[in-house]
Amino acid sequence: MEKARKLFIAGNWKMNKTVAEATDLVKALKRDLAGIRDVDIAVCPPFTALYPVGQLLDNTNIKLGGQDLYWEKFGAFTGEVNAAMLKDVLCTYVIVGHSERRQFFHETNETVNKKTKAALAARLKPIVCVGETLAERESGKTEAVVQEHVLKGLAGLSAEDLAEVTIAYEPVWAIGTGKTATSQQAQEVHAFIRKLLAQLSDAKTAARVRIQYGGSVKPSNAHELMSQPDVDGALVGGASLTARDFVEIIQNVRK
Ligand code: PEP
Repeated sequence: MEKARKLFIAGNWKMNKTVAEATDLVKALKRDLAGIRDVDIAVCPPFTALYPVGQLLDNTNIKLGGQDLYWEKFGAFTGEVNAAMLKDVLCTYVIVGHSERRQFFHETNETVNKKTKAALAARLKPIVCVGETLAERESGKTEAVVQEHVLKGLAGLSAEDLAEVTIAYEPVWAIGTGKTATSQQAQEVHAFIRKLLAQLSDAKTAARVRIQYGGSVKPSNAHELMSQPDVDGALVGGASLTARDFVEIIQNVRK
């Protein structure tokens, strides 16, 4: 399908996969996705598997991403990992502000902003997650919440930096629930996000930024979602944990 921006499909493995399981999965992905250049592809394993997976993916068409980072450069921050450490193990991307981090680990728009800036300063490409909960959608607050996530999370970025960011619109009610936003619901919010990006920078930069959809993406719904003009890819959770589903999603969006 003809798209304004190259599609970008990323797998968020969350807290899944030992090193052995991760390397098995990535070997299968390398085999089945070899040579695909018309879609950008990335996987985001847990920290413990980044190094071995990065070694296997070096110089391939599948890029590596972290699932989080801390904004300080080094020091006494037990349990944290910084941008330079992610670069060191060959990460190209890093997820920032995933709803599970907002929900369970006190991530705020302010910390998302600090992490996004730290990633960009280290030349890591952030995938910044935004999206409303079910209660927020049902009380008509979707746009207000998404607006806060985008404007505060990306505040102070130059147009040049903004062009390096991917936004993942992930309605919280669709993550891991099997409920997917309709392609029309997704398109409405994606178009709204693009308007906000133009406010933050300019229309030309906003038109360059890729906006992924995330929330129960699977082989059966990926093509329909990607057929929307402002849906530029997907952040895939559950269905990225098996080679068969992740490969099928990528094959289906190329049709
Ligand atoms: C996610 O983790 O970003 C996600 C969208 O998960 P799932 O695809 O399982 O809903």
